[in-house]
Amino acid sequence: MRVKVLGSAAGGGFPQWNCSCANCSALRLGTLKARPRTQAQVAVSPDPSKWFLLNASPDLRQQINATPELTPRSAALGSPVASILLTSADVDSVMGLLHLREFQPLRIFSTVSVRRILTEENTLFRVLARSNPPAIWDVMPLDRLMPLVPPSSLGKKDGLFYKAIPLLGNFPDYVSESLRHSLPPEEAVIGLQLIHKEKRLFYAPALPGIGEEWRRSVDESDLALLDGTFWKDDELISARRSRRTAREMGHVPLWGDRGLLRQPFRPGKTHHVLIHLNNTNPVLNEDSPEHRTVREAGWEIAYDGMDFEL
Ligand SMILES: [Zn+2]
Repeated sequence: MRVKVLGSAAGGGFPQWNCSCANCSALRLGTLKARPRTQAQVAVSPDPSKWFLLNASPDLRQQINATPELTPRSAALGSPVASILLTSADVDSVMGLLHLREFQPLRIFSTVSVRRILTEENTLFRVLARSNPPAIWDVMPLDRLMPLVPPSSLGKKDGLFYKAIPLLGNFPDYVSESLRHSLPPEEAVIGLQLIHKEKRLFYAPALPGIGEEWRRSVDESDLALLDGTFWKDDELISARRSRRTAREMGHVPLWGDRGLLRQPFRPGKTHHVLIHLNNTNPVLNEDSPEHRTVREAGWEIAYDGMDFEL
């Protein structure tokens, strides 16, 4: 299974257009040892003819055009992008669906609640129904292994499977309060496990809290791309960009006693990689002590174009 990181930053990207934090300012001046990053986007492929997008970022058009594997091969074969799996209804996870609207038949996988928010509460997404056939919305059941690509023949293990693991976050702010409270919270934010030929990927760009179940999924995976949004819980308050803590925004910070880096993951098998990095996060600065701490803990930091073969 190929896993490509097309974008590695949190919402807003790096630098963010309206941000003058220490990182964004120094990156613009060229005085920061760091790479610019587009908003988090991952693509997964069991074979070169098929690519699955994990979420649809606001930078998706640019990200697809920058990735030769995702270019359409011929008029008959069309685009190798056929399906999108959504981990939440957050703007950063779904806005790119509008980039895919050019009369392309698509399959979109999400929880029932995310589908309801996008197709019933936001009429803009009805643009996806203009293709022939119109976009198909598939419901992802929770905690159940489901096929995305069936095995080539009986007994073969070459199929691609997924499992949606509930992470218990919140529905996005743009959803009306009455609807938000009527929807089951376990359908708000999920982590995705993808399995192909016994190799496993776990993808969770937002981890609202610490949970035994997703930690187990990380431990049984060969590669885990996990929420690296914030270094500290009060990061945006210190940068005067928000009054809310990282946890209040649905992201476990990296640092601190209950931070992601302190979680007792099983050492050995799993390749741990941080993704969805907010532009204020000091780990983006490759000369920073925080960057060094992450690397010394055995973690990697995702960048645009990072590529894995599992
Ligand atoms: Zn910034």
